[in-house]
Amino acid sequence: MGVMADDRVFYKMDERLRVVYGDIGKKYYAEIKKAGTVKQLDEEYQGYFAEIAKIEGEKDKMEAKQLAAQGKRRCPDCRSLLPIESRFCNMCGVKLTDPNEETKDDTNGEPVEEASKAEPKKCIYCGTEMESDAVFCPNCGQKND
Ligand SMILES: [Zn+2]
Ligand SMILES: [Zn+2]
Repeated sequence: MGVMADDRVFYKMDERLRVVYGDIGKKYYAEIKKAGTVKQLDEEYQGYFAEIAKIEGEKDKMEAKQLAAQGKRRCPDCRSLLPIESRFCNMCGVKLTDPNEETKDDTNGEPVEEASKAEPKKCIYCGTEMESDAVFCPNCGQKND
């Protein structure tokens, strides 16, 4: 096995570098977003932040539309997929805003009934049907263990 410092090796190294640079960017972005402030030193990055926020916002809107068509929505906090009528996230318990406030689109007809599954899980407090892996009731927000 000779030393083959060919293009593929460089290509792989470049690719690895891109991944690492990407990770740095993501980590940095998450930290700044969490801190809620951009330090003076970070000002030259503000353009990137604005661009990411814009793209994320557009992505969220597009996804929300797609999900709504399937009778679903995503928790803004933990990103869990939830039934669209949920008032509380069934995974993290966060209170959800009314999806109709944002999307006034008419849904096309009746929601498609899913093939009947075995006994649905029900909230022990209010009796609302819950996803089988749900922890928090989508109606009253109580924790069901
Ligand atoms: Zn959640
Ligand atoms: Zn309940």
